[in-house]
Amino acid sequence: MVTCIDVAVAGGGPAGAFTARELACAGLSVLLIDPATRRPRLEGLGERVAQLLIAKGLGNALGAASDPLPRHVTWAGLTGTANGERLVRRHVFDEALRRAAIEAGAQTRQARLGRILSSDEQQGVVLKLTTGEEIRARLLIDARGRQTSTAQRLKGPQTLAIAGLATQAAGAAGTHVEATPEGWLWVAEDPGFGRWLQISVGADDLVGAGQAALRERMARFLSQDQLAGRFSDLVFQDPLIARSAGLVLAAPRLKLPVIPVGDAAVAIDPLSGHGLFWALSSALSAVPSVLTVLENVEKGSHLATRFYRDRVVETFWRQARTGRDFYRLETGLSGNPFWAERVSWPDDEPSHPTVFETSLHKRVVVESNRLVERDVLVTPQDPGGVAYVAGIPVGDLKPFFPSSALAQPPPGAPSPALKAAFGWLESRGLLHGSLSRTKQQQTKTRETA
Ligand SMILES: Cc1cc2nc3c(=O)[nH]c(=O)nc-3n(C[C@H](O)[C@H](O)[C@H](O)COP(=O)(O)OP(=O)(O)OC[C@H]3O[C@@H](n4cnc5c(N)ncnc54)[C@H](O)[C@@H]3O)c2cc1C
Repeated sequence: MVTCIDVAVAGGGPAGAFTARELACAGLSVLLIDPATRRPRLEGLGERVAQLLIAKGLGNALGAASDPLPRHVTWAGLTGTANGERLVRRHVFDEALRRAAIEAGAQTRQARLGRILSSDEQQGVVLKLTTGEEIRARLLIDARGRQTSTAQRLKGPQTLAIAGLATQAAGAAGTHVEATPEGWLWVAEDPGFGRWLQISVGADDLVGAGQAALRERMARFLSQDQLAGRFSDLVFQDPLIARSAGLVLAAPRLKLPVIPVGDAAVAIDPLSGHGLFWALSSALSAVPSVLTVLENVEKGSHLATRFYRDRVVETFWRQARTGRDFYRLETGLSGNPFWAERVSWPDDEPSHPTVFETSLHKRVVVESNRLVERDVLVTPQDPGGVAYVAGIPVGDLKPFFPSSALAQPPPGAPSPALKAAFGWLESRGLLHGSLSRTKQQQTKTRETA
């Protein structure tokens, strides 16, 4: 028997579980497929993630995380305590998000997606699970994380993260990040979980294979002079966990009926601390894509493809350059192979390009949980672009731009929203002279398709 549903979600990590929950809340029939085989581990969870979860009514998932803790940093010759981060027990956190998906109405299968038997933009997908069950779905959300199998990938220098739980009890709750010649170290002290230690080294810097190789690499890292024997008595409880950790643009192009989210779209370098936020925010932006495509495959496909490309490709390059700048701060270590590779990739472009002139673009944006094409105004003050001012689409404000043929102000008193929009346009030097108090608009607006 074949199970037929609107959307199948392969992978029940944060990206997949959250997408499944949001789609089920939107009234779709959803099947979440995950083997539920996570090993206990700790990660850092930033306040943006906490706020997003609370805003989405998922504050109870924060039960898997500590309160914000101090984060001690030894980097670029400086030592200090920076922004706090929460310590999250990922196996408990992911389980809480999967439960939220079920409560919202998603079905689940404890299995793996084995094969995609057929895939067609109009007809959808037919999937074969490792249990032998076949699933027919109109769309597939690929949330298999770094285990996804896309052929086209763009990668930076590849990092291997080796981590484990120490037998020693945790010290005072908090985290510590430290740059060393061979890579960087993250120590998380969680009195209820233990002392978690993670090193990040070059992926090709491992001699041999298996646990013996991981233990040898960990011991070699911890014996560096800089660490001055601080970890000489450390013993690990369980087998060490090794994970690939470099930045990867896993799926640069959207090929419907498959929509990648989270690490399956862009796998994030843990140094950024941005991975969980990206997992949840990319899940959120998949929802309008799904709803738009299901309403009209042809039109929706065009919009979803552009929306995906703008978000995913931009995220990859911004993360690549922000990461490079962070590695560059550590000037004292740049002669070591791990650092030399990372300070020169991907290029010398700024992570946030400066915008010098105002321009108008056609972009795909989200409106009422659907994708639509709108005019977006990019200004030196708003480099990310603005599609609405005081709730009014920027396109509707074009008649009031300095370059328009407007001869007279609009009749009658402007509504409060229009008044607010005029104030905003004026602050950008973009209000027609006949409406402006300052009458000094010189700005030309370049229009692009
Ligand atoms: C070493 C390391 C440390 C990190 N530390 C942090 C940190 O401190 N803070 C932070 O914000 N981010 C951190 N990250 C990044 C963060 O872990 C990821 O960005 C996040 O887990 C991505 O979520 P996801 O749901 O996309 O993928 P994942 O969490 O990888 O989830 C993928 C899911 O898919 C399932 N799956 C795999 N194959 C199949 C299949 N065939 N069928 C069905 N299911 C399948 C897996 O079992 C898993 O449940 C770290 C990453 C690494 C590698």
